[in-house]
Amino acid sequence: MRILNTVKRIALVAHDNMKDELIQWATTNREALAKHSLFATGTTGTLLEAALEQPIAKFLSGPLGGDQQIGASIAEGKLDVLIFFWDPMEAQPHDPDIKALLRVAATWNIPTACNRSTADFMLTSPLMFSEYQPTLPDYSTYLNRLRK
Ligand code: PGA
Repeated sequence: MRILNTVKRIALVAHDNMKDELIQWATTNREALAKHSLFATGTTGTLLEAALEQPIAKFLSGPLGGDQQIGASIAEGKLDVLIFFWDPMEAQPHDPDIKALLRVAATWNIPTACNRSTADFMLTSPLMFSEYQPTLPDYSTYLNRLRK
């Protein structure tokens, strides 16, 4: 069982062509974001920190392993929400990492916004400011599959 607390641990990631849009969105929503704990990949985090004047815990830059670090933190229950503005128009060198991050976010059923509209809907949801228990598939059958 996992509980997303009132204060959410939000991971933010934007590919280079999407960074301006994420910064704009975050600046517009500065007050709401200030109520949560923010995490980001390296470059995204540095830019957001300057724009928001709010501390942001930074992982490595995405292509250097930051996406994988965020994925691992989601799997470990250390992050609650993913805002990931990936670039639909340009291939990335770390494409497998992107796929892995989106997969692990789906595996753990955490709220995931991949564009600005979804991020708007998410941040204006009352659930962003209350406790929430995501339903999780029962993975026990899978985990016990080789036990005799
Ligand atoms: P960056 O990484 O914030 O370090 O640029 C983002 C990404 O491409 O995953």
